[in-house]
Amino acid sequence: MEVTVARYAGFCPGVKRAVRMVEETLKNVESEVYSLGPVIHNPQVVASLEARGLKTLPEDGAAWEGMDLTGAHVIVRSHGIPPDQLEYLRHMGASMVDATCPTVKKAQRAAMRLVGEGYKLFVVGNADHPEVKAILGHVGGDAVVIKEIQELKDWWEGWPRKVRKVGLIAQTTVDLLMFRSLVDGLINEVPELIREVMELKIINTLCRNTLARQAEALQLALVNDMVVVVGGRNSSNTEFLRRICEMAGTRVLKIETAEELGDPRLGGAVRVAVLGGASTPLSIVEEVRDRLSSR
Ligand code: SF4
Repeated sequence: MEVTVARYAGFCPGVKRAVRMVEETLKNVESEVYSLGPVIHNPQVVASLEARGLKTLPEDGAAWEGMDLTGAHVIVRSHGIPPDQLEYLRHMGASMVDATCPTVKKAQRAAMRLVGEGYKLFVVGNADHPEVKAILGHVGGDAVVIKEIQELKDWWEGWPRKVRKVGLIAQTTVDLLMFRSLVDGLINEVPELIREVMELKIINTLCRNTLARQAEALQLALVNDMVVVVGGRNSSNTEFLRRICEMAGTRVLKIETAEELGDPRLGGAVRVAVLGGASTPLSIVEEVRDRLSSR
């Protein structure tokens, strides 16, 4: 079996930075150290950090009621945090360690700029994703999150006032196809847009590392018999990689650890590519490669 590991496997820069900040905080402070929600979408890495003392604070602020966070250090993960939550945690006595990815910060600033300049803001992404919730928090909730063109049409039909300026950004990790289809749909499928809107401003907030990972996934899917995608089950960027390979018509196996590989012969596949999500450590990807190569 010929096994190829993607060049863009291993932590992305934002996750690498967040994990490093957690490790440094655990090493340097005596107090309790929390991350706000699982620090990355990879249960194996989270378990290893928890074994070194990291605790996970629930994402739902209502659960902080009655907790004593005085003197504790709370790490903001790479997805960011709404400013009111940040202030609330400071008010509870916590010292905040901001590991928000610089690319996510750019998306937050783009959202604030557009809303500040009077644009009706649309965010392409998943409304339940913590990064999107943090972006909305930075504009006081004054934005519409869309992931399908129908949602955009429904919003426009139900909106009573005329819209003159439209701004568009994206969750940093949405796939290029989704972003392109929403931009295209905004122009071609919402007739009101041409009648009402005087200005349309699109700020490209997509993550370069994610785009490169997705492009490489497609290339590898096209030249291999099978692709093994390694990543957390709760990681949306890993799921995007799986979908890209599936759309290319290649057999795909998505697993979290090498143990889930099952029969490493993979039904007789001769050329296999191994990909990893942005929060999958290279060590797990390499373990999968070694198991496959040993056959
Ligand atoms: S995927 Fe991109 S935006 Fe998200 S944390 Fe990694 S580098 Fe930052």
